[in-house]
Amino acid sequence: MLVLIPLLMMSCGLVKSKCDVCDGTGKVICLNCNKSGKMNCNNCSGAGQEDCSWCNGQGKKMCTSCSGGGKENRYDYGYNYANGGKYEYFFGPFPCRNCNATGQMRCSNVSCQYGKVRCSKFGCSNGKIACDECHGTGERKCITCDGAGEK
Ligand SMILES: [Zn+2]
Ligand SMILES: [Zn+2]
Ligand SMILES: [Zn+2]
Ligand SMILES: [Zn+2]
Ligand SMILES: [Zn+2]
Repeated sequence: MLVLIPLLMMSCGLVKSKCDVCDGTGKVICLNCNKSGKMNCNNCSGAGQEDCSWCNGQGKKMCTSCSGGGKENRYDYGYNYANGGKYEYFFGPFPCRNCNATGQMRCSNVSCQYGKVRCSKFGCSNGKIACDECHGTGERKCITCDGAGEK
């Protein structure tokens, strides 16, 4: 008689049918991310980069020494046109040394590249974040069979 007990349990299991929603796997495709498990980061819209806050995405900043004019007033040697074009030491406008007379300085943020920095959102990798709905697996537990795979 004892031998029959496992056989009965087995036949009971066969009565249950495979869940047709998940085809017996207990899992269904996550539609939120279309099974990729990843979604575009809402902070950087999937670009993986965002505008640098130091230079507002410009990659450069106005020179603070010359206020963008490219010239600064200082004592230096040069041709003094106000004094007949003589080469002398005088106080006057000279090309700004801070910005090489361009009026602009490169952004001082070392991680800034052409005005862009890596996205600062936690968990963002190359513009992608793990899907909240399936926690990055791409699959969700089948609610029809509660993940059992059969009903
Ligand atoms: Zn199912
Ligand atoms: Zn991002
Ligand atoms: Zn910058
Ligand atoms: Zn300057
Ligand atoms: Zn998902």
